[in-house]
Amino acid sequence: MNDEQLLRYSRHIFLDEIGIEGQEAILAAHAVVVGAGGLGSPAAMYLASAGVGRITLVDDDRVDLTNLQRQIAHTTERVGQAKVSSCAASLLAINPHVQISTVQERVDQQRLQTLVADASVVLDCTDNYRTRQAINAACVAQAKPLVSGAAIRFDGQISVFDRRRHGAACYACLFSPEETFEEASCSSMGVFAPLVGIIGTMQAAEALKLIAGIGHSLDGRLMMLELKDMEWNTMQVARNPLCPVCSRLHTA
Ligand SMILES: [Zn+2]
Repeated sequence: MNDEQLLRYSRHIFLDEIGIEGQEAILAAHAVVVGAGGLGSPAAMYLASAGVGRITLVDDDRVDLTNLQRQIAHTTERVGQAKVSSCAASLLAINPHVQISTVQERVDQQRLQTLVADASVVLDCTDNYRTRQAINAACVAQAKPLVSGAAIRFDGQISVFDRRRHGAACYACLFSPEETFEEASCSSMGVFAPLVGIIGTMQAAEALKLIAGIGHSLDGRLMMLELKDMEWNTMQVARNPLCPVCSRLHTA
């Protein structure tokens, strides 16, 4: 680290749990953030400010006026721009040393497999069930830790699926890919602005913890927030031995 970096990251380096070694790990890390909207904005902004060396932003959408109420990486003057470019501009304004790759595509599982191949951590910041399943399948196939967040109306949830741990569950153990239900996306539903900030920021926290090896992650636990009454509930997540994505029966 040079002098500028020692200053920039000094408040991380002061933490015993991070120090020089942890900050070096953060600088060497590659985070893949799928979704540059409400969750992806704060998640990516904290990853960039914290010094994650490489960030890949994946989103096929463009900035719309209706996004600005909660998607804080975007600005009024960037309405109409690709979300990945708009988000990248915000990240570079905070920290010009971060290497940012932008992927303006609706990605499928095959494409995701390539994108996450050298990732240290993957953040699911999407609002689409099929894409969530594709991200999970790619993370299972590549044994990459996945930080999954979701937010709608006043309700949020967050979990970590760290397949590097023996016996860890995957997203599909909890939410079956065979399930078909109506897509409840933000495009037609309300979402309380700070909710996505809370969940997205927690995703950044879990990702940085995984990178620097701090404390215990949310692997094996699902946290659910009811923001209206500000109540948190935690549920244990167990591996489903019949999971169509990660069970040995299906991967053999
Ligand atoms: Zn599974």
